[in-house]
Amino acid sequence: MGKALIIGCGGVASVAVHKCCQNSEVFSEIMIASRTKSKCDALKEKLKDSKTIIHTAQVDANNVDELIALINSFKPDVVMNLALPYQDLTIMEACLATKTHYLDTANYEPEDCPKFEYKYQWDYKERFEKAGIVGLLGSGFDPGVTGVFSAYAQKHHFDEIHYIDILDCNAGDHGYPFATNFNPEINIREVTAKGAYWENGRWVETEPLAVKRVYNFPEIGERDMYLMHHEEIESLALNIKGVKRIRFFMTFTQNYLTHLRCLQNVGMTSIEPIEYEGKKIVPLQFLKAVLPDPASLGPRTKGKTNIGCIFRGIKDGKEKNYYLYNVCDHQECYKEVGSQAVAYTTGVPAMIGAMMIIKGYWNKPGVHNIEEFDPDPFMDALNKWGLPWKESFDPELVD
Ligand code: NDP
Repeated sequence: MGKALIIGCGGVASVAVHKCCQNSEVFSEIMIASRTKSKCDALKEKLKDSKTIIHTAQVDANNVDELIALINSFKPDVVMNLALPYQDLTIMEACLATKTHYLDTANYEPEDCPKFEYKYQWDYKERFEKAGIVGLLGSGFDPGVTGVFSAYAQKHHFDEIHYIDILDCNAGDHGYPFATNFNPEINIREVTAKGAYWENGRWVETEPLAVKRVYNFPEIGERDMYLMHHEEIESLALNIKGVKRIRFFMTFTQNYLTHLRCLQNVGMTSIEPIEYEGKKIVPLQFLKAVLPDPASLGPRTKGKTNIGCIFRGIKDGKEKNYYLYNVCDHQECYKEVGSQAVAYTTGVPAMIGAMMIIKGYWNKPGVHNIEEFDPDPFMDALNKWGLPWKESFDPELVD
C-alpha cells in the first residue's frame, strides 16, 4: 500500500523498521538510508523473511541534493527522519523540493546551541501548506504520544485542561556504571540544560535538575524525578487552549547523576571544541565514542518504563483529574524486536505516525505538532502495535 524512506539506522530506526515490517499491509516497501550503509544492510538481513520489500542506501542527511536524488529515485509516500535533530531542516528542505510528506521525533537544534525551540521548523508551515504536504513534528513518545494523550484528554475528558504534568520514568537497569538509553550526545545536552516550565503564559527557568519530586509510579514504585525543559511544552502551550501550567519530569538514579556531575566537572560534557594533538575535538562527541552504544543495551536492560501525562481541569463545571500512561518492559521489547524500551517507545509511534499519513487519516497540509491531529486512530494503533495505554481517574498528583 505505501512506501516509506527511513533515514538513520540507530536504536530508534531499528525498532521503526521492525514495526513497519510487522505492518506490511501498510508498509509494502521501505528504504533504510543512513550514513553507514553496512548497518542498514545488517538490519535488512535480520528482516529478510519479512513481506515488506526492503532497500538500503548510503546518504549524508546533511546534504540536501543527495537527499533529493534519493527521494526522487525511491519515490516514497513519506520520509521518516530518525537520524539526529541536526538533520531536521535539510530533510525538510528535500521533502519540500520533492513534495513528499515528512515526520520526525525530535525538534531541530543547531549543533552549537543545545536549546529546544520549534521556531526553525514552524518557519516551514506556509511552504509545506503551499506544497500540499504534511510535516508531522515529534512522532516519538515524548514528544509524540504525550501530545496524542493531551489531544485525547482534551477531546474526550475535559472542557478545559488547566495543568499538565508529563512524567517520564525509566526504571530499567543495564548493569553498566554509566550509559544513556538513546544517543548520548543528544541525551546529555538535554539533561545538562537549564530546566523550564510554562506557567500563566510565560516560561519559568530553573537551574539544571534543581527541582526534584518523588513519585510512586504505577507498576514501578517510588522514583526520584527532576523537572526538565522539554520540547512538547512549547507546542502544547499553544495547542491546549486555556492551559495554565505544563511541566516535564524525568527520573534519574543517584548513580547516574553522580557520574554526570563528575563528567561535567571535568569538562567532558562540553560542546566547545578543544585542541587535542593538533586536532579539534568536541569533548561531548568524544565521550559519546567511549560510552556504550545505546543500540547495544537491549540484551542487558531489565525493568520497565512508565511514561504518561497527568491532566487536571474542568469537566461539566467540576474539577477532574486524569492520568494516561503506558508501561513498557525492556525485556519484552528485546524479545520482540531486539531493542530496549526507550528505543521501542520511540520507534513504535514513529511507525504509527507514518501509517496515519499513508492511510490519509492525517492529511492536513502544513507543518503540525502531533496534538493538532485527531488522536483517536493513533490511540487505537498504540493498543494494537505494542504500546497499550492505561488510565486512572484518581492519580497521585505532583505538588
Ligand atoms: P542513534 O545515534 O542510535 O542513531 C542515529 C542514526 O542517524 C545513526 O544511524 C546515524 O548514523 C544516523 N545519522 C547521523 N547523522 C547522519 C547523517 N548526517 N546522515 C545520515 N545518517 C546520519 O540515535 P537514536 O536512534 O537513539 O535517536 C534517533 C532520534 O530519535 C534522535 O533524533 C533522538 O533525539 C530521537 N529520540 C526521540 C525520542 C522521543 O520520545 N521523541 C526518544 C529518544 C530519541 P551512524 O550509524 O553512521 O552513526
